Amino acid sequence: MKKHAIIPIFIPHLGCPHSCIFCDQRTITAHTAPVSEDEVTETIETWLSTLEHVETREIAFYGGSFTAIPMELQNRYLRIAGRYKESGRIHKIHLSTRPDAIDPHILENLREHSVDTIELGVQSFDDRVLALSRRGHDSADVYRSARMIQEYGFELGIQLMIGLPGDSPEACIRSARETVLLRPQIARLYPVIVIENTGLYHLWQNGGYRPLTQQEAVMWTKEMYKILDAAGINIIRVGLKSSDLIRSGGSIAGTTFHPAFRQLVEGEIAKERIEEQLAALGFVPCSSRNPKREVLCMANARGLSNLVGNGGRNRQYFLDKYPGIVLSYRVCNELHDGEYIARIKGDKQ
Ligand code: SF4
Repeated sequence: MKKHAIIPIFIPHLGCPHSCIFCDQRTITAHTAPVSEDEVTETIETWLSTLEHVETREIAFYGGSFTAIPMELQNRYLRIAGRYKESGRIHKIHLSTRPDAIDPHILENLREHSVDTIELGVQSFDDRVLALSRRGHDSADVYRSARMIQEYGFELGIQLMIGLPGDSPEACIRSARETVLLRPQIARLYPVIVIENTGLYHLWQNGGYRPLTQQEAVMWTKEMYKILDAAGINIIRVGLKSSDLIRSGGSIAGTTFHPAFRQLVEGEIAKERIEEQLAALGFVPCSSRNPKREVLCMANARGLSNLVGNGGRNRQYFLDKYPGIVLSYRVCNELHDGEYIARIKGDKQ
């Protein structure tokens, strides 16, 4: 049985006075008018009809800066969600917003409406990256709002982007480390996707920005993922979903999008872990002197596809890089998520 489901309600660009360089929220959400209360109810009912057997269900207001819209409108949406929560048909209320759209008055109102989780679109902890991305807030806003959200007893979520103008592997790693220090419950990692006709697209066309290659995006994200995961933060999303882009009409440019981006990242981590263990077992990359042995690579059922890699890319990598050794892939459900083991066949653990 599926344990947890999120019912997403997209609230487009409403009330947002900003123009982040990467954002075309109206396009992403494919709406131009405010979402009506009837639409919200209809969306919730449609989702609920498919989620009967899910243990916990959560309504999530995404897509804009929820707490920057007029409070009266926030409350209309929140009252609907609140009624579902009171009736027990949903269990949590979740929203996303900007770090500078949080203050005590806003948080008190959200508490009155039984909101559980507030996600901050932090994007980066590097003030230069934030300024070049025209976010309109700095890292001080992030620390201030995150602390306040936690003091009020909400669950905290942090969203980070990878590959914004001025970004670097070092800045990304620092953002991941600062995130760990804030101790959020959840995080999302989004490599930048260039959407046509945004400021970022024009900057790129004018030579002022270079999008990451897909491989760079995977490698930078991988390092952040490892830091967050090691700290026990639940990484609920890595990369945009295809359905997010369908809503945008698919007008994306650049190459960072991949429908299984999370698997690319987790597959790289699996490859790295296996390669470390092969080295510890005495195997040397690209050497014809490796002993002709069979090596078992193991993960639990959820991790097996990461081990093999998207489209079998890890399997091919090891075939090419370790000629002579035979790797076979097995499920071992005693292993935890993210645990990948390499062992010479026949050897005891
Ligand atoms: S604050 Fe959010 S909705 Fe507004 S422009 Fe920036 S990314 Fe888009």
